[in-house]
Amino acid sequence: MPTLAELKTNAEPWWCPGCGDFGVLRALQTALVNLGLEPHKVAIIAGIGCSGKIGNYINCYNFHVVHGRTLPVATGLKLANRDLTVIAAGGDGDGFAIGMGHFMHAVRRNPDITYIVMDNHVYGLTKGQVSPTSDKGMKTKSQPEGNFERPVKPLQVALAAGATFVAQGFSSNVKQLANLIAKGIQHKGFALINAISPCVTYNRINTYDWYRKVLVNLDEDPSYNPHDRQLALQTVIEHDELVTGLIYQDLETTSLEAGIPGYREEPIVEQQLELPEEDFAKLVSSFR
Ligand code: SF4
Ligand code: MG
Repeated sequence: MPTLAELKTNAEPWWCPGCGDFGVLRALQTALVNLGLEPHKVAIIAGIGCSGKIGNYINCYNFHVVHGRTLPVATGLKLANRDLTVIAAGGDGDGFAIGMGHFMHAVRRNPDITYIVMDNHVYGLTKGQVSPTSDKGMKTKSQPEGNFERPVKPLQVALAAGATFVAQGFSSNVKQLANLIAKGIQHKGFALINAISPCVTYNRINTYDWYRKVLVNLDEDPSYNPHDRQLALQTVIEHDELVTGLIYQDLETTSLEAGIPGYREEPIVEQQLELPEEDFAKLVSSFR
């Protein structure tokens, strides 16, 4: 069983003091400890952006991929080695702009991976431009007179596209976020955890204090049923996505791996994939 100390690396987090990504890092480490996952059994596929640094700070496999491509790489890795816990992690720009096509297809395919999006409604690494989730009217360096586009609503998009696990946490509530990440890892299929992770440097609107006033915690509502997709959709629309907790989980739909013909229990990385010499010779002779 790993301890929190064993999951840390020697790298000092590069984030601005107070960045929400610290809370997400702590929540992910806590979830891995609580699930007793050994570092060599976990892989983090991180995207580009401030949030993409997260993999550098956790002692497990880490693959920092090109912009927007966490999900195809994570899906491929899971298919090659189903024994690994595969976690994709990135920001709202990485996931819901350049990566949006991959997001839709990952939702549709339902591979057994967990996707943590550190959503701060802005591009932080490139110094404060509008992102796909920026509020309409938000003034930034790229749109100084206010964002004239409507934001993406990730929870609604995921639910409408058929996601089998949708949750949202807040980086200042590490305990709840760690619990949601652990549930997402245990879910047999694609799990989206949208982690509200304030950017204290470039977003002065969606601040910690603002979120504390407006967020509604569904985990504290005993009447909420997280297995009803219509209720989930209605709830996130009514609250304009300002909810935390397990929003929806489908326990019936099987994962991508379960539907692939001939896909064996033994991980592909451990299978003998070499062609027997006899078959190889036959193949070569067929081209003569
Ligand atoms: Fe975090 Fe924003 Fe600083 Fe990036 S710029 S490290 S998102 S506070
Ligand atoms: Mg962002």
